[in-house]
Amino acid sequence: MLYLSKSKYCSLWQCPKILWMNKYKSEELVLDSSALARMEAGNEVGDLAMGLFGDYVEVTAYKGERLNLQKMIADTKAEMDKGTPVICEASFEFGGLYCAVDILCKEENGWAIFEVKSSTKSDKEIYIADIAYQKYVLQNCGVNVTGTYLICIDNNYVLDGDLDINRLFKVTDVWDLVSQEEKNIRANLKIAEKILRSETEPEIDISEHCKKPYDCGYWKYCSRHIPSPSVFDLYRLQTSKKFDCYRKGIITYNDLFLSGVVTNEKHLRQIEFALTDKGTYVDKDGIRDFLDTLSYPIYLLDFETEQPVIPKYNGTKPYQQIPFQYSLHYIESEDGELKHKEFLAESGSDPRRALAESLCKDIPMNVCVTAYNKAFECGRIKELADAFPDLAEHLLNIRENTKDLLDPFQKGYYYNKAMGGSFSIKSVLPAIFPDDPALDYHNLEGVHNGSEAMSIFPKIKDMPPEEQEKARKNLLEYCKLDTFAMVKVWEELVRVVG
Ligand code: SF4
Repeated sequence: MLYLSKSKYCSLWQCPKILWMNKYKSEELVLDSSALARMEAGNEVGDLAMGLFGDYVEVTAYKGERLNLQKMIADTKAEMDKGTPVICEASFEFGGLYCAVDILCKEENGWAIFEVKSSTKSDKEIYIADIAYQKYVLQNCGVNVTGTYLICIDNNYVLDGDLDINRLFKVTDVWDLVSQEEKNIRANLKIAEKILRSETEPEIDISEHCKKPYDCGYWKYCSRHIPSPSVFDLYRLQTSKKFDCYRKGIITYNDLFLSGVVTNEKHLRQIEFALTDKGTYVDKDGIRDFLDTLSYPIYLLDFETEQPVIPKYNGTKPYQQIPFQYSLHYIESEDGELKHKEFLAESGSDPRRALAESLCKDIPMNVCVTAYNKAFECGRIKELADAFPDLAEHLLNIRENTKDLLDPFQKGYYYNKAMGGSFSIKSVLPAIFPDDPALDYHNLEGVHNGSEAMSIFPKIKDMPPEEQEKARKNLLEYCKLDTFAMVKVWEELVRVVG
């Protein structure tokens, strides 16, 4: 018999090989921090949405650490027989096909399926496939399905006082789309059966589907035949173009160089420097022009943010970036000493006002500020100015005076092979200073990147005091290295122009 859950059915829908990998080679799965964050967000949103239709009964049950599906199925039946109007995680099985409906609501002549997603987009095809599978299972269990709905997050919702889940969630009737998709289910199930019965790895090559809707977690395994560097390492080349080249056999940098398909100057430089040991490319005039836009005193600024799916602070939207920390290195004059200031909010309360006040205290008006990829910092400063009109003049002044230290790298004025075509500070810093342990993010404790900072900050409030202290110290060290890295990068630019 074919055993399938709705998540397995959805993986089949993206690529049948995922299903096979999950059964025969699951040890090859690599989940990155964004996949884990998506799962956490999904659970949080799912729990909240349960209250959308008033009182409900949740049938989730465990045997040890695993879900007790048989009990969940029996309890669902009992609740339906009783006529319970809202059942969450309502579970069904038909011929080895399992599903748990996020919210099952009683309607006049049957039951409606509500599928909850933490996304703000209600038009993803995979969501429709997911609901179509549930409808198929329920109907084969004898349930009259009279409605199919998708519940997503409304990104226009702004928190104003108590959280209003009726406005946070957007319910879309997807009956017609689901009915269309239902026609594909039997064929998909046949594919699933064939795939799962065979111990032979399916011959499915990598293509655009590997990245849609998300990286499936098996990319490293499925792309192991691709040499490094390859067309997939070219900086900001569209995914479709990368796969076009791949399908034509234009894969290595040598292939790319000989084929003549690459015309973009930055890509050509990336390839040329990887193929030949050319050291560091320096466009002195370009760098000098950039440095001329800076003036003392110079402030180097970096924010860390959290991004709650469910807004926590008044005036904020779902998924809004909320700055909770900054690091600031500054030098007042050409021969001045390097100084440092920092801010880290208390976890558990709105950090924005205290951060904005501190920023205005630490950065005077009309001074030169630099950020690395300034669009991010400037965006957050603008949001702070909108939120706190009494600080707006000062904040917008900081924003107007912010220069982007990424510019000389993105414009191609400074390049070496070790950057591998990426201009993020995490690539540029080790490429310039490969052997300096003080500049190595790997040597930090606990927090090594922005995603880790984002994930740890909101959890600090629930930690015991000694762990809180350690987590705060780790966050401060991490953010401080970000601006110290900017100082070192800026010094290098000054050095090369002589
Ligand atoms: S990496 Fe691509 S080919 Fe491999 S399992 Fe995932 S989607 Fe399928």
